[in-house]
Amino acid sequence: MKEVANTLRSAKRILMSLHRQPDGDSIGSTLAVAVGLRRLGCQVTVASPDPVPHAYDFLPGVETILSWRDVAVGQFDLVALYDCADERRTGAPRPLREYAPKILNVDHHATNSRFGDVVFVDPVAAASAELANRTLELLGVTVDRDLALLLYVGLETDTGGFRYASTTPESHRLAARFLDAGIDPGEVSELVYERQSVGGLRLLGLALDSLRVRPDLSLAYFVLGDDAFAEAGATAQDAETIGIVDYARRLEGIEVAALLRSDGPGEVKLSLRSKGQVNVAELASRVGGGGHERAAGATIMGDLAKAEEVLLSLLAGR
Ligand code: 5GP
Ligand code: MN
Repeated sequence: MKEVANTLRSAKRILMSLHRQPDGDSIGSTLAVAVGLRRLGCQVTVASPDPVPHAYDFLPGVETILSWRDVAVGQFDLVALYDCADERRTGAPRPLREYAPKILNVDHHATNSRFGDVVFVDPVAAASAELANRTLELLGVTVDRDLALLLYVGLETDTGGFRYASTTPESHRLAARFLDAGIDPGEVSELVYERQSVGGLRLLGLALDSLRVRPDLSLAYFVLGDDAFAEAGATAQDAETIGIVDYARRLEGIEVAALLRSDGPGEVKLSLRSKGQVNVAELASRVGGGGHERAAGATIMGDLAKAEEVLLSLLAGR
């Protein structure tokens, strides 16, 4: 982590990126480091491959996030990434090397491909926000209310509200520090989880209707086609904080929950969740994805029927 801090300290123009379909931890950890570095006088550009979900639009610094389309190559000393398990997750239109001569990769996914020049991966950290917090400490940046808000949202969302098995005593100690810095957990949870669109909730309804259960594979899953988004009047961003896939994990006797959702023509986004007996990061990495033991994902090329076959053969072959 000292090398991480030194690498950031010795760069002037830094490019950061969220990951595809950015979640609370991608946005919170990346913006916390970006805002902290700006306070030290660095020029920091934050790019995103996909729009930031409405649920996170209240976060400080979110208005500075650019689309990758508006980022020119060769303008930076360093590309610094938090929460991106592989280079493709950034959704950058050009190889990252073309943007800067040096790449920093800080993450908590065990499946991280270890790309880049300075790499720090800590799979024990419940969220990349924990690593962003350590970075700020080493940089000597005071975590005030704005930074605490970014870090708290990363930590709270990636631990499922401190419920997932990834939650450690350190996660709770950090949360306590963020509360001391002025965070009101009730207010944050209302902002993140209780501003959903009618379309988003109707999408959840359609997903619940699509439930398929395979007791022989200990699997329960949902399928959402392109038409589902149109029918519900929902966008991909609407789906982010509803946690659709988690509903399938609630079933007794089910070990693995999945969501297959159409993500444009010929692409299906697979989300996987496990209660612990099955390592879904390992399953996802067999089809080019990755993640954590209990929460992982991948993009499958093909239509929904093909993706469903891939899912069933992954489970049947484990
Ligand atoms: P979700 O299902 O919520 O999109 O993602 C669950 C977890 O898997 C997250 O930690 C996320 O970063 C990771 N993940 C999701 N999709 C991919 C993917 O295509 N590639 C990799 N490497 N990780 C993914
Ligand atoms: Mn993430």
